[in-house]
Amino acid sequence: MAAETALIVGAGFAGAVYARTLAEAGWTVRVIDRRTHIAGNAYDEVDGNGVRVHRYGPHLFHTNNDAVVEWIQQFGEFVPYQHRVRALLPDGRLVPLPVNADTVEAVLHRPLPDEAAMQAALAEVALPIANPQNAAEHLNSKIGKELTDLFFRPYTKKMWGLDLEEMDASVVKRIPLRTDREDRYFPGDRHQIMPRDGYTAIFRSIFDHPNIRVETGVSYEKGMEDSYTHCFNSMAIDEYFDRSLGELPYRSIRFHARTVEGELPADMNWTVTNYTDTGPLTRETHWDLLPHHRVEATGRRTVTVEEPCDYRDNNEERYYPVKTSDGRYQEKYKEYAALAAGLERMSFIGRCGTYQYLDMDQVINQSLMGARRFLAERGG
Ligand SMILES: Cc1cc2nc3c(=O)[nH]c(=O)nc-3n(C[C@H](O)[C@H](O)[C@H](O)COP(=O)(O)OP(=O)(O)OC[C@H]3O[C@@H](n4cnc5c(N)ncnc54)[C@H](O)[C@@H]3O)c2cc1C
Repeated sequence: MAAETALIVGAGFAGAVYARTLAEAGWTVRVIDRRTHIAGNAYDEVDGNGVRVHRYGPHLFHTNNDAVVEWIQQFGEFVPYQHRVRALLPDGRLVPLPVNADTVEAVLHRPLPDEAAMQAALAEVALPIANPQNAAEHLNSKIGKELTDLFFRPYTKKMWGLDLEEMDASVVKRIPLRTDREDRYFPGDRHQIMPRDGYTAIFRSIFDHPNIRVETGVSYEKGMEDSYTHCFNSMAIDEYFDRSLGELPYRSIRFHARTVEGELPADMNWTVTNYTDTGPLTRETHWDLLPHHRVEATGRRTVTVEEPCDYRDNNEERYYPVKTSDGRYQEKYKEYAALAAGLERMSFIGRCGTYQYLDMDQVINQSLMGARRFLAERGG
């Protein structure tokens, strides 16, 4: 019997996990991506300053999922890394983010010697809102108006183009608030690691299988799947259906890289600085703070600044699905998913195929489970 064949649209994590899993099960797999490179939004490259830069923003691998770590570590060496972020206040001070006791002390101008004092200070400023209906109400009920307006209101407006009142509480519920002085960004995650030689090298290794053929610079076209047993598609689901039920919008980001002469300040131990002002920029990344990102000594550094925008203003680069407080786009996605369920040979996968923001570990996990379930249903 001829081998089963799969067409995979998208060479990001979703496509890569499906490709590898099917190839290992004996399937012949063709992967296409319309970009000129593999690795999707996790793509990184060494720039003219000798610095490894993630072209689509800093990608930090953090998870509690042991199976995902075990899977990814087959494809290259990972090294430990603890991520730290500072917020730049209007008066030029830098304070830890997520908000912790040091942050609150600096903003409220009062000492908070222990966690009880911190909790009492927050209880004093928190507004009595019993059943928060949106992101503004959720934050005001936890940390009060001053901290909300400083750390979240301008940032949210720039990031999402929406006021906090228009946003679903779930978007900000994911942001931790610490009552101690812990300043690591992901202290709850057992695994915080970065690929020693970059993500692109990991993808090369994932695709390095005799049953996998990868073609970049190739866009999906209707009917391509006809000569394959099945197609796993990580393109935007509304784009596939020509937006026939309406648009599923995304926020995007324009990245502005600049060269800085000289070495890093010796006391700098955080990679990302968030801006709290009302200007168009949200944050800057100092790449050489990430492990093994200073690949060649040139005396120059690269700093990338981010400017969020609507995806239509950035060549339809889809990054973050939009979540409004009424959930209207998630409802629209369900209508598209119902249409997709009627397609026999096609499954939509990954971030844009399922219209949800997913971290890398979540995409890997979902894709591993999805591919294994698919194979099991077909009898191996
Ligand atoms: C700015 C930013 C920062 C992030 N930071 C982190 C982080 O710190 N930690 C973390 O865990 N996750 C992070 N993520 C999330 C991470 O990027 C995703 O989890 C991951 O990229 C999802 O993989 P995917 O395969 O679903 O999508 P993608 O990586 O987007 O890959 C999809 C691929 O499909 C291709 N494609 C789309 N349409 C077509 C078509 N019609 N024809 C051919 N090819 C097509 C695209 O070109 C793309 O390469 C971040 C995301 C963004 C945007």
